[in-house]
Amino acid sequence: MQAGGGIITWALTSTNKPKDMTNRALGPYIWKNGEFLESSSVTIHACTHSLHYSGSVFEGIACYYGAIFKLKEHVQRLFSSASLVSLRLGFEVPEVVDAIKALVQMNSCKDGRFYIRPIVWCDGSDLSIRKRSEELAQIAIFTKEIRPLNPNAEVNLVLSSWTKASGASSPHQCKTSGNYLTSILAKRESEKFGGGEALLLDFTGKVAECGSANIFFLQKNGILLTPKTNCCLNGITRQTVLELAPKLGIDAQEKDIFLTDLNSVSEVFLTGTAIGILPVRSLFCPKDGLRLEFSRGPVASLLFEAYFKLVSSKHVT
Ligand code: PMP
Repeated sequence: MQAGGGIITWALTSTNKPKDMTNRALGPYIWKNGEFLESSSVTIHACTHSLHYSGSVFEGIACYYGAIFKLKEHVQRLFSSASLVSLRLGFEVPEVVDAIKALVQMNSCKDGRFYIRPIVWCDGSDLSIRKRSEELAQIAIFTKEIRPLNPNAEVNLVLSSWTKASGASSPHQCKTSGNYLTSILAKRESEKFGGGEALLLDFTGKVAECGSANIFFLQKNGILLTPKTNCCLNGITRQTVLELAPKLGIDAQEKDIFLTDLNSVSEVFLTGTAIGILPVRSLFCPKDGLRLEFSRGPVASLLFEAYFKLVSSKHVT
């Protein structure tokens, strides 16, 4: 980002571009408050309320060769997140859906996989935590090319020392920036131990989710389990897997899961818009030095194939 006179632009220059974004460009246009603007011209002020006190809400939507997966569901979740943190939008769901479809055209998101990020925030700049209820929230949408889903990808998990707050402290069904502080800390910690993602327990010790993904466990008796949603986001990919599983003859259930249950597990995989269905190779627990290894098994592969077919279909929007 470039700074100047309190204004921060969203354009990425060649000198500050993170390594993994090389050749993965931000789309040329950003839709902001009803207008298509050149990405390099879109700015936010350094006094922006949501920048100081968190409270922005956002979505992560994937577009596969021009087909946007579950667009309406994502936009509805954006509006529900906004309502949970009292951000008042000046647009309706169909208008944001149409804006995303138009932006995908303008940014030529046809050849490859693209990530669509709508974000809603409070502009108030008087440095008070108070938000004026009459003030309309700001909304911007941008696109970025991302790597295609890789059927051979795997991840190593590290059990985090950070835990998810209770639902009474944090609205878990809200994709709000504040919820991501724990995710960022946990992910950073997992990297220190060579992991690619962090597994978080909830405040009572039950398995919750990963930093930015839901988690599934295949028990040795063939039942597929995923934590209930009282302490994790009810991810759209999670819901898709729960819909696909019975069609593939897999018994999938939502259940309270404890670390001791993992002894009777043969496969583990993560789900999320950006990662799709990602098998877990190992789980390392730094506290006791224990490492559990999991096999890359047929159930994750079966679900990956079915998911890939679904997201690649042209009729999913
Ligand atoms: N949990 C968290 C904390 C996440 O950030 C994400 C990614 N949005 C998910 C789960 C998976 O959600 P979805 O499948 O809707 O992308």
